[in-house]
Amino acid sequence: MLTGEDTLSHSLLSSSINIGLLSPDEVIKAAAAALEEQNAPLNAVEGFIRQILGWREYMRAVYLSEMPGYEQVNVLKHNRDLPDFFWDGETKMTCVAESLRPVIETAHNHHIQRLMVLGNFANLFEISPQQTADWFNEMYIDAYDWVVLPNVLGMALHADGGLLSTSLGELYP
Ligand SMILES: Cc1cc2nc3c(=O)[nH]c(=O)nc-3n(C[C@H](O)[C@H](O)[C@H](O)COP(=O)(O)OP(=O)(O)OC[C@H]3O[C@@H](n4cnc5c(N)ncnc54)[C@H](O)[C@@H]3O)c2cc1C
Repeated sequence: MLTGEDTLSHSLLSSSINIGLLSPDEVIKAAAAALEEQNAPLNAVEGFIRQILGWREYMRAVYLSEMPGYEQVNVLKHNRDLPDFFWDGETKMTCVAESLRPVIETAHNHHIQRLMVLGNFANLFEISPQQTADWFNEMYIDAYDWVVLPNVLGMALHADGGLLSTSLGELYP
């Protein structure tokens, strides 16, 4: 994360893939071709392909296998309201403000801001997972229920008791 650097080396392709303008297959083939043409290093191409072929498909699979019901998970019983500053970015917490600003301005921020700053803050502050997921659904250009719920409830908030990530205890009832 760097203050004022909103995109870093990210592709900004998620909205185009999710809306169907690009297929995951053609994006993966283009990345593999870049490797062969020596326009991109192996580690970058491997990581990028793994995110689309691995994480994206896995999120979809979790949604398909767990819905309906998954939208209500809250094993940690977090019930505080989403703070108002999620809507205007007005907070003295610089990391949080710098993660909210791009979303408010452009409907996008990158994975680290979503997971490690906003998700972690929501968990520590014990914000309702459902209010948090609603906010992600409303604010992001690449948001759809199938991708928001597993990422927010499972990956970021552990509200499913570890169903999506490593299970540390009882799964949600
Ligand atoms: C709390 C939280 C909410 C998220 N909400 C969304 C969302 O609403 N829509 C969305 O598409 N992604 C979501 N993600 C996953 C990821 O953050 C975005 O796909 C990524 O930031 C999109 O930007 P990019 O295309 O520039 O990413 P890049 O890093 O340049 O590209 C990686 C590509 O891999 C895919 N990808 C990687 N990780 C994931 C993942 N966990 N789930 C699904 N696809 C993935 C995406 O298609 C993405 O375009 C969320 C992650 C978290 C932690």
